[in-house]
Amino acid sequence: MPVQSLFQSVILEGKQPGPHLLILGGIHGDEYEPMAAVRKLITSIDKSKLTGKVTLVPVVNEPAYERTSRTGPDDLDLARTFPGSPDGTITEQIASQATQLIQSADYLIDLHTGGVISNLAPFSGYTLHSNPEILDMQRRMALALNLPVVWGTSAHLNGRSLSAARDLGVPAIYAEWGGGSGCNPEAVSGYTTGCLSVLAELQMLEVSIERKSPLYHIEDDSSESGHLQLHNNAPVAGFFEPAVQLMDRVQAGDALGTISSVLGDQNTTVSANQTGVILGLRTLPYVEQNEWLAVILETERT
Ligand SMILES: [Zn+2]
Repeated sequence: MPVQSLFQSVILEGKQPGPHLLILGGIHGDEYEPMAAVRKLITSIDKSKLTGKVTLVPVVNEPAYERTSRTGPDDLDLARTFPGSPDGTITEQIASQATQLIQSADYLIDLHTGGVISNLAPFSGYTLHSNPEILDMQRRMALALNLPVVWGTSAHLNGRSLSAARDLGVPAIYAEWGGGSGCNPEAVSGYTTGCLSVLAELQMLEVSIERKSPLYHIEDDSSESGHLQLHNNAPVAGFFEPAVQLMDRVQAGDALGTISSVLGDQNTTVSANQTGVILGLRTLPYVEQNEWLAVILETERT
């Protein structure tokens, strides 16, 4: 008996045979812009002009989505659970089915946001894959997504859709944009046209989208690069008020914001650990000790 799929998908088959592109949203259940963008792609891709096949999954992690949470009822982070297990907990089973889908694909795009606690500037990312042909294709796809920041990072982080793709030899990119609360329409439309632009790059669809050069294209092979949660963490718990905005340039040591006690009689200034550009910022004011406050794209090493 076939195993029941744990997520809903739409397959768009073109008239001409060609490659298979997989586009995922909702690996995290509280990241809404990708869900809306992938849903919009279902009607935006003209099948009569498509070469190859596109599989669209607006919400990979439905149990997490239904509890308005990053994670499902087993509290496992799906983006740390790949390749998963068919006999494991619900998140491990979803990871296993998503891995099978990645295995069936020729290319992968995995779309994210900062979730309900944070807001991220638009950027696309890829791993610095050891195979030069896969790396070149990932670079091309990440640039084609047409976002202002493109970031190549360590290929050694595990548990992600991108690490499953790495192990299967499938060229893969991810992207981050939006979050905080609600669903930013600019991110939804930017993600939608960005994916169409990747389809054009892969010669699967003819679309005229003006390509822009990124403001920053950084490749950083240090071992924990790309692990967003490790960047600038809260030294104490409290009420965080940022002193910077997304895409601001900061020097190491500059103030990122202040964490205040309930009465405001104890205030801790948080300083940037790196010199670069603010890519992500916590928007939810209450922060626990050691939770991340900001992601800085290092433009120079200090
Ligand atoms: Zn995410």
